[in-house]
Amino acid sequence: MKIYLDMDGVTTNFVLGCQKAHEDFESPVQKWEYYHDWGLTTAQFWEKIDSDVEFWYNLEPYTWMEELLIEVEKIDPDFRVLTSPRNTPQCYTGKHYWVEKYFGITNQCHRYCPYGKKEELAGPDRILIDDADHNIDDWEAAGGIGVLFPQPWNICKDKCSDRMKWVKTRLFNIEGQE
Ligand SMILES: [Mg+2]
Repeated sequence: MKIYLDMDGVTTNFVLGCQKAHEDFESPVQKWEYYHDWGLTTAQFWEKIDSDVEFWYNLEPYTWMEELLIEVEKIDPDFRVLTSPRNTPQCYTGKHYWVEKYFGITNQCHRYCPYGKKEELAGPDRILIDDADHNIDDWEAAGGIGVLFPQPWNICKDKCSDRMKWVKTRLFNIEGQE
């Protein structure tokens, strides 16, 4: 089994980074495009962070990341980080260094897979762990195995009280079906 692990919303606290960048810590983030609730247009939201390599590099890992990595590495020590970068060199670069900082380099091949059409990498023995409903839907439609990571902005929102319990159960069931 090969595992493809998403960054933002799964391992990487993109939302907190955005709250810091836009100096808004009050508004709860419960949905996609939450920044409209902050009174920002899409352009205003991205303008501040798109071209800031430090923004991407300095995003904090979620508290559950270590526990998640233990589970991922039990199945695939050579897992990949599949993330859809913004189309700026700064974002590609910042994420590159983030992956290196937290996940290291394996063999000659960097784990970092920056690519938006994730489903092109799907296959029957390939698991995607991602927080976006549409990414999981597309991955499964392309023949892959999806694990939707619970977040307030996806259909697994009711599993947020114990995200890792949900993920462990999903992975256990997937392994059992091999
Ligand atoms: Mg994500």
